[in-house]
Amino acid sequence: MQGCLFCRIANKEIPADVVYEDEHILAFKDINPVAPVHVLFIPKRHIATLFDIQKGDEPVLGRLHMVAVQVARELGLEERGFRLVANCQEGGGQYVFHVHYHLLAGRDLDWPPG
Ligand code: 5GP
Ligand code: ZN
Repeated sequence: MQGCLFCRIANKEIPADVVYEDEHILAFKDINPVAPVHVLFIPKRHIATLFDIQKGDEPVLGRLHMVAVQVARELGLEERGFRLVANCQEGGGQYVFHVHYHLLAGRDLDWPPG
C-alpha cells in the first residue's frame, strides 16, 4: 500500500536491520527498541490492523508465529522466555497501520502492561 511505512520496508525502499526474511514474512529490529531484544514481524502483504485479517491469511499469520519462535530460539531466549505482542488500533497502542508483532525480551517485562 502506497505510503505505508512497513510496506516500504518490505519493498526495501526504506532500509531496516533484517533478522529474517522469506517470501511472505519479514522480521527486522525496531528502530526505537524498548527492550534489549525488540524485533518486529510483519506479513509482507499489507494488512492494516488485526481487524483486517481475512480468510486466506491464516497460513501466513500462522507461519509468522512459527518464525517468531524460531528467531527467539536463535536469539537464545528459550530458557528465559519472551513476549510476542500485537497492538491493535489507537486504543491498543498501534501507531503503524500494517499488522506487526513485537518480540520483546532481555529485561523483566511488567504484566499487565502500562
Ligand atoms: P506500534 O506502536 O504500531 O505497535 O509499533 C510500531 C513500531 O514501529 C514502534 O515500536 C516503532 O519504534 C517502530 N518503528 C517506527 N518506524 C520505524 C522504522 O522506520 N523502522 C523500524 N525498524 N521500526 C520503526
Ligand atoms: Zn503496509
